[in-house]
Amino acid sequence: MSNAPETDLMSKIVALCKRRGIIFQSSDMYGGINGFWDYGPYGVPIRRSVERLWWKYMVEERDNVVGLDSTIICHPQVWHASGHVEQFSDLMTDCMDCKRRHRVDQLPEQGVCPACGSTKLTEPREFNLMMKTYVGPVLDEEHAAYLRAETCQPIFVDFNIVRVATRQQLPFGIAQTGKAFRNEINPRNFTFRSREFMQMEMEFFCHEDDAMDWFDYWHEQRWKFYTDILGIDEKKLRIYWHEKLAHYAKKALDIEFEFPFGWGEVEGVHHRGDWDMSRHCEYSKQEKDCKYFDAERKESYFPTVVETSCGLDRLCLLLICNGYDEDTAATAKEGQDEDVRIVLRLPAKVAPVQCAVLPLSKKLEEPATKLFHAIRKRFRSEYDVTGSIGKRYRRQDEIGTPYCITFDFDSLEDNAVTVRDRDSMTQERISLDQITKYLNEKINPELC
Ligand code: ATP
Repeated sequence: MSNAPETDLMSKIVALCKRRGIIFQSSDMYGGINGFWDYGPYGVPIRRSVERLWWKYMVEERDNVVGLDSTIICHPQVWHASGHVEQFSDLMTDCMDCKRRHRVDQLPEQGVCPACGSTKLTEPREFNLMMKTYVGPVLDEEHAAYLRAETCQPIFVDFNIVRVATRQQLPFGIAQTGKAFRNEINPRNFTFRSREFMQMEMEFFCHEDDAMDWFDYWHEQRWKFYTDILGIDEKKLRIYWHEKLAHYAKKALDIEFEFPFGWGEVEGVHHRGDWDMSRHCEYSKQEKDCKYFDAERKESYFPTVVETSCGLDRLCLLLICNGYDEDTAATAKEGQDEDVRIVLRLPAKVAPVQCAVLPLSKKLEEPATKLFHAIRKRFRSEYDVTGSIGKRYRRQDEIGTPYCITFDFDSLEDNAVTVRDRDSMTQERISLDQITKYLNEKINPELC
């Protein structure tokens, strides 16, 4: 990571993301809307590939986890049963001097406004985080509905339909990725705390007696996802064990990453007991959909749930913060006169552009475009012919392109190109008939 002071490191990352069309504020031309973020052309591939990696790792490579894609709006009773309508709230307080609103549990000093230092704060009030809407043409309470605050509730509701359709027996899991909405009091730290965000959740249904073992198993699996699949250094990750558990929970941990603004939760692994299935039974009165008959144990019971719940936007932010670097040593190498080379060291499997084809001259466009068209079939690729080669390298460095392929006049003679590595900045001459094989070994497109 760079040596830049951590406070302005985050603003540099936010600025880079906007400048390069990775992530920027929604409705920017109207001044933005707090807590909502758009992913631009270089952000979409990052988010999609991380989601794909998660899905492959959690669903496609396992026999005992199946997928679901439910609606964002469910029957309102779902959110009464889950406890969200009654209890999903944070305590907030308003500063009477500067009029800013704060979450009470996030005040660095209780009773003091972190923005202006005033001690004139209102009494804490409960604030429900559910986003409300109306279904149908009548805007009254009878037609009120909620945007889902988490992706897992529809999984519980659909448990039995999915189980029967897939002939799964306990233990097994159901996974889903998608949007969730929370009316956060104080969205902050870029996309870390947003009001609209994506979750990737897996609910694993099992017998109560086996649940602690499954908890340990999923704890290990999820840790491996960060270290082995995404290549994150263990030193930048830690486990936070919850001491204060929800009344129904038996064990809970968070996987945290060291962001420039401090340690922050990226994912939770929770032992939720049989709370979810018993609550949906109580509210829906559909015992057959909520209980499971275990032929081996010869008993019928509410499945116990072990959950893994990951925020996709927080994971993308993790990768961007982890990859951001200001490389001062390398600038002289490529004849550039700026002081620092900003480089986003993203793993190739999530990089928005995996290889860029850069002809040295417009006169080389024809053969270079031919190469580009061949390569883009397999890898996320970009073609750029404008500006000096040094400037083009810098642009690709900032969006995290791991390989730049330069097509020069010698290429016409020797049928070879120069491949420049983003991280080491070394250059290798590779023959054109070997280039796909070479990139295949480096990038492994099956993984992304
Ligand atoms: P926090 O304590 O940070 O508010 P949480 O414990 O309420 O998070 P969960 O309800 O366990 O979070 O949600 C699971 C995951 O969803 C979190 O680990 C996080 O990655 C993601 N997530 C939750 N709230 C937000 C948000 N406002 N913006 C972005 N991601 C979020």
